[in-house]
Amino acid sequence: MPDQPFRPLTSYLIRKTTLWASICTLLLASVQGWLSYQTVTERSLARLEQVALAQAPAYAEAVWWVDIVSVRLMLEGLRRTTDIGYAEIREPSNYAPVSNRREFKVAVQDGDVRCKTRCASTTAPLLRNGLQEPIGELFLTIDPRLVYLEVGRTVAAVLVASVLSTCLLLAVIILILRRDLQRPLTRLSRFVNDLAAAELTQKLDLQRPPRRHRDEIDQVDEGFQLLQARLAQHIHTLEEKVADRTAHLAQALAELQTLSTTDALTTCRNRLYFSQQLSMEILRAQRYQRPLSVVFCDIDHFKQVNDVHGHAAGDQLLKATGQILRGALRASADWVARYGGEEFVLVLPETGLSDAVALAERIRRQIAEGAGIRLPDGSVLKRTMSFGVAELAPDEAESALLQRADHLLYEAKRGGRNRVCAAEPVTV
Ligand code: GH3
Ligand code: MG
Ligand code: MG
Repeated sequence: MPDQPFRPLTSYLIRKTTLWASICTLLLASVQGWLSYQTVTERSLARLEQVALAQAPAYAEAVWWVDIVSVRLMLEGLRRTTDIGYAEIREPSNYAPVSNRREFKVAVQDGDVRCKTRCASTTAPLLRNGLQEPIGELFLTIDPRLVYLEVGRTVAAVLVASVLSTCLLLAVIILILRRDLQRPLTRLSRFVNDLAAAELTQKLDLQRPPRRHRDEIDQVDEGFQLLQARLAQHIHTLEEKVADRTAHLAQALAELQTLSTTDALTTCRNRLYFSQQLSMEILRAQRYQRPLSVVFCDIDHFKQVNDVHGHAAGDQLLKATGQILRGALRASADWVARYGGEEFVLVLPETGLSDAVALAERIRRQIAEGAGIRLPDGSVLKRTMSFGVAELAPDEAESALLQRADHLLYEAKRGGRNRVCAAEPVTV
C-alpha cells in the first residue's frame, strides 16, 4: 500500500473548481468595478458640466457685484443639492489685468478640498455681458463618495450573483461527479481489491444508469472484463497443462513403481516386493484367521543349462518358467516373485496346504510333461522343477514360515528332484 493518505478524486476536482471559480469571481468583480467606476465618473462629469454651464451666469452676476455672501450661499446650496464634491469660484486661469474691467479678487470655495486634486472636475468661465474676458471660473468636482457608493453597489451585486451562481454550479458539479465518476470508480476499486483468486471470472457491475455514449469508465470496465476473460483462458490452459502433466507423472510413477517391484528378466515380482508384501499378507491372514500358503520352487540342474547352452539359454528358460508360473495362478489374489537365481516363490492367500500342494503338483506336471523351450540353434531345452509347500501356522513368524518352505524344497531336491514336498503347519 502506498504511504500517501487517500483523498477522493472528486474532492480534489471540487476543491480546484472552487478555487478557480473564486479567482474568476474576483477578477470579474474587479473588471465590473473598474467599468462601473468609469461609467459613473463620466456620467457625473457630464451632469456636472451641465450644472456648471447652467449656473455660470448667476455666479457671474454675483461675482460682478462682489457679492461674496451670495456666492458662498449659492455654492453651498449647489454642492448640497447635486453630486458635487467640491465647488470653487476663482480667478480665470489665464487671468491678465484688463484696464476697463472692474478689479476684484474673489476665491470662494465649498466642500472637501482634497477633491480639488483627486477627483474629476469641470470648469465653466463666468462671462459678463459686454466683456470679452471671463471675470472668474466656476470650478466643480464630482463627489467621490457617490461614485464609490455606486461602484460598491455594482461590485456587491456582481459578487453576490457570481457567488450564488458558482455555488449552484458547484452543487450540480458535485452531484454529477459523485454519481458519474466517484461511485463507479469506488465500485471498480472495491471490486478489484476484493477479487479473490478463485473468483477471477466474477462479473463486474458498475451499476451505471443507461447512457447514449460510452466514456472512459466504460473503457476501463470493458478493459477489465477483457483482462478477466484472458486470465480465465490462461488459467484454463494452465489447468489443462497441469492436469496433462499430472497424468503423465502419475503414469510415470506407476511405471516406476511397477519397475521397482518387478524383476526385469522374468517380469515376476522381485525380492523387494516379496519382502514388503509378504509381511502384509501374513498380518492379514493372522488378523482374519485366514489360510495362507507359500511354495518355494527351484529349477532342477539349472547350472548345467548355463554351462552347456550358455547364459542366454539360461535366461530364456528363466523367462519361460516365470511365464508358466504366472499363468498357473489366480490373477486376483496369488502372485509369484523371483526369490533369487532360478528360485521362485508363490504366495497363495486364502489357500490351505492341500490346495497349495495340488497347485504345485499341477505346475510340476505341466513343466515336466511340457514341450520345453526351443533354443535359437533349434535344439529343445527342458527342465523339471522341485517344490517346497508350507502353510502359515497361527502366530507363526514370517522367517519361520520361509525357513520351513525352504527346508521342504531342500527335501524335494534330496528326494530326487521333480517333486513336491509339503508339511502340515506345526501347531504349538
Ligand atoms: P539344483 O538342482 O540343486 O537346484 O542345482 P542347480 O544347478 O539348479 O543349482 P545351483 O545353485 O548349483 O545353480 C544355480 C545357477 O543358476 C548358478 C547361477 O549361475 C545360475 N543363475 C543364477 N541367476 C541366473 C540368471 O539370472 N541367469 C542365468 N542364466 N543363470 C543364473
Ligand atoms: Mg536349481
Ligand atoms: Mg537354486
